[in-house]
Amino acid sequence: MSPSLFTHLLCSRCERELDPALPHRLCPCGSPLLARYDLAKGRQVFGNPALLRDRRRDLWRYEEMLPVREPEFRVSLGEGGTPLLGTSRLGARLGMTHLYIKDESLNPTGSFKARGLCLAVSMAKQVGVEELAIPSAGNAGGALAAYAARAGLPSHVVMPRDVPRANVAECEAYAADIRFVDGVITDAGRLVSELSSQFGWFDVSTLKEPYRIEGKKTMGYELFEQLGGRLPEVIFYPTGGGTGMIGMWKAFEEMEQLGWIDSRRPRMVSIQSTGCAPIVRAFEAGAESAEMWEGAQTIAAGLRVPRAIGDFLILRAIRESRGTAVAVTDEAIQQAVTTIASTEGIFAAPEGAACLVALELLLERGWIDKEETVVLFNTGSGLKYID
Ligand SMILES: *Cc1c(COP(=O)(O)O)cnc(C)c1O
Repeated sequence: MSPSLFTHLLCSRCERELDPALPHRLCPCGSPLLARYDLAKGRQVFGNPALLRDRRRDLWRYEEMLPVREPEFRVSLGEGGTPLLGTSRLGARLGMTHLYIKDESLNPTGSFKARGLCLAVSMAKQVGVEELAIPSAGNAGGALAAYAARAGLPSHVVMPRDVPRANVAECEAYAADIRFVDGVITDAGRLVSELSSQFGWFDVSTLKEPYRIEGKKTMGYELFEQLGGRLPEVIFYPTGGGTGMIGMWKAFEEMEQLGWIDSRRPRMVSIQSTGCAPIVRAFEAGAESAEMWEGAQTIAAGLRVPRAIGDFLILRAIRESRGTAVAVTDEAIQQAVTTIASTEGIFAAPEGAACLVALELLLERGWIDKEETVVLFNTGSGLKYID
């Protein structure tokens, strides 16, 4: 019998239910679909986190709370199970006692995109999809290409022409079909959408299919385990499409229903670049959704997302958690890359380094107490950005 407690897909806006045996992208109403689980049964069979103790280290240790039914559909490269590193030198420099870095650069393909695309490709296999396509600001393309290769499925990647070179090289190596657009990820998204309806490819754009978020949510489960059965007080998350933010927020709700945690939540901090900060702008304006950001530009390629389809879910998570949103400059990001590398030996992606810049700002403002447990997400490897 399958250990998965997955039951159905539910629309995040209109609450329509959809049959998970079929391939789905958005709800017919145009909003993202979310996977739902039998959490009443979960409380009985998965209510005690101690049963995780002797399990495999990768994200499949949470198989009850993942949608893949049978091991034969799992397309795995060892994703998840990344370290939560203490930061004695960096922490001391900031006067902090419980500062951690969740180092997602150790995932296959060098970024946390592996978690999401692992689940998207596995589920594509489970429901019989045969050809995959994705628009990417960089790392998502590499991750899709890798997992598609692993599954023996063809993949198509559309990227901005000025994407980091490492992302092009990896897609080539994984034998993906690559196309370039003059513009940003939203322009790539438009082309993927056109080509997908023309050629019958399955488009796995952020939140336009329901399972990438299921892979990303495992970061929330891991934090709980790695902190010895509790959650941090504050989470810093560099936000593009927001899959990880929405995913972890969903994971916390599931964990409460399972009986692992109470109703307390970490304050969620969304970090963007001053060159592309649609979520920060919407947060400050008190808006429920975000306007398109014109002329998006930043060295943190993963943050160059001028419009996110899950904007309302990101904003909801920030507000419900009493979190905040902060925009930081490319110059400060570059300096933070060096600071993290030289103090802690972690060569962070600019997106990850952006978290440190935001932390310094919020410490200055007194928004964070120096004794609080704070986690910064280093979402990818600096080695991908050496152009
Ligand atoms: C994609 C990406 C992000 C943004 O992640 P979302 O979940 O889309 O918000 C951050 N950092 C890196 C390195 C990325 O590749």
